Amino acid sequence: MDYAARIDEALERLHEEGRYRVFIDIERRKGAFPHAIWRRPDGSTREVTIWCGNDYLGMGQHPEVLAAMHEALDATGAGSGGTRNISGTTVYHKALEAEIADLHRKEAALLFTSAYIANDATLSTLPQLIPGLVILSDELNHASMIHGIRHGRCPKKIFRHNDVAHLRQLLEELPPDTPRLIAFESVYSMDGDFGPIAEIIDLAEEFNALTYIDEVHAVGMYGPRGGGVAERDNLMHRIDIINGTLGKAFGVMGGYIAASARMVDAIRSYAPGFIFTTSLPPAVAAGAAASIRHLKTDPHLREIHQTQARVLKTRLRGLGLPLIDHGSHIVPVHVGDPVKCKMLSDMLLEDHGIYVQPINFPTVPRGTERLRFTPSPVHGPDEMDRLIAALDTLWSQCALNRADLAG
Ligand SMILES: *Cc1c(COP(=O)(O)O)cnc(C)c1O
Repeated sequence: MDYAARIDEALERLHEEGRYRVFIDIERRKGAFPHAIWRRPDGSTREVTIWCGNDYLGMGQHPEVLAAMHEALDATGAGSGGTRNISGTTVYHKALEAEIADLHRKEAALLFTSAYIANDATLSTLPQLIPGLVILSDELNHASMIHGIRHGRCPKKIFRHNDVAHLRQLLEELPPDTPRLIAFESVYSMDGDFGPIAEIIDLAEEFNALTYIDEVHAVGMYGPRGGGVAERDNLMHRIDIINGTLGKAFGVMGGYIAASARMVDAIRSYAPGFIFTTSLPPAVAAGAAASIRHLKTDPHLREIHQTQARVLKTRLRGLGLPLIDHGSHIVPVHVGDPVKCKMLSDMLLEDHGIYVQPINFPTVPRGTERLRFTPSPVHGPDEMDRLIAALDTLWSQCALNRADLAG
C-alpha cells in the first residue's frame, strides 16, 4: 500500500475541483483593526484591510477585554491545567457561565472550547438522553450541527431552508408520541438571512418539540443586551437550548449552550466533547466574560455595526453590484464562478490591499460563489471608500455583471 500516493490523490482532487484552500497569512495589529500585515509566501509583506473577519465589533482589541485577560493571565498562569472534572474548573469558568446564563435569561450555561464543539457535543448527546429522539434540521445548518446530528446516530429529517410548511409536514408525519427536536439558526452566515424563529417556536409548541437554536452570528450583535435575534424578538424564553460563540462578536474564543439547569446538568454529565478535553485557559474565560459584560450594557457598537452594514449595502447597490441582502449585518456579493471569485479576491489583495476570502463550494452551493464582506464599527469612511473604488474598478476590468439578484 502506497499511503503517500493515496494522500497525494486526495489533495489532487481538491486542486482539480478548484477548492484547494490557500490560507492568507496575516498579523492583526491591536489598536489598528481592521488593518493588518499580510505576509506573502516569499516573506515579503503588505499592509491590508481585513473585510472578511468575524470579530464583528472589534472586541478582540477592546481595552476592557484585554485588561481582563492580562489580569487573569498574570494571576493564574497560562492554561487551566485540566478538564472541567479534574482540576480545570476555575472561578473564571464559573463566572463566565453565570454571565452567559444571564445574557440569555436561562437557568444555566455550559462552556465548550468552541461553538463547533458545543453544537457537535450537545446534538450528538441529546439522543442518548432522550431515547427515540428524532432531530428535524434545516438543510442549511452549519457543518457543526450536521456533524453533531450524524454522530448522535438518531433518525433525522431535513427540512427545506426556512420552509415552515415543510417542517410542519415532517412533524405531522411522525407518530404523535415521538420525541423530537428542531435545530436551526437565527442568522445563516453565508446569505445573511434570518431563520423564522417565531414560526418555528409556534410549531414546536404545537407538536411538543424541543428547540435548539444556533445564534453564533447574532450573539453580541442583536437584542438590547446582545442576547441575539431571539432576544431582539422577545423569544429567548420560548427556546430550549441556545448555542453561541465567544469567538466572533465577543472577539475571544470558546462556545456554549444556555438552557435549563436540568438540561445543562445532563449535557455536562454525558457529552464526551465536554468531559474529555482541557477547559479553556482562565485568561480566555476572563476576556470573554468582560466582552459579554461590556456589550450587555453598551448598545453603541451594535448600532454602529448595523449602520455600517446599511451604508456598505447602499453603496454597493449604487454600483449595481449583485448584492444578496436579507437585512442582516452580513454583506455577500454574488460572483457565481469559483475561478472568477478566487481571481477577484487575489486582485483585491494584491492590487488594493483589501482582504476578502473567496467563498466557494462546499461552503456554498456551486454557482453561488461569492465575496462576503463583514463591515464593522472599526471600518471607517476611508476604508469604505477604498473598498468601493476597488470593487468598481475590478467589476469593470473583469467585465462582471451588474444586476441585483436578491433585493
Ligand atoms: C463559526 C460557526 C460556528 C462555530 O463557532 P466556533 O466558536 O468558531 O467554533 C457554529 N455555527 C455557525 C453557524 C458558525 O458560523
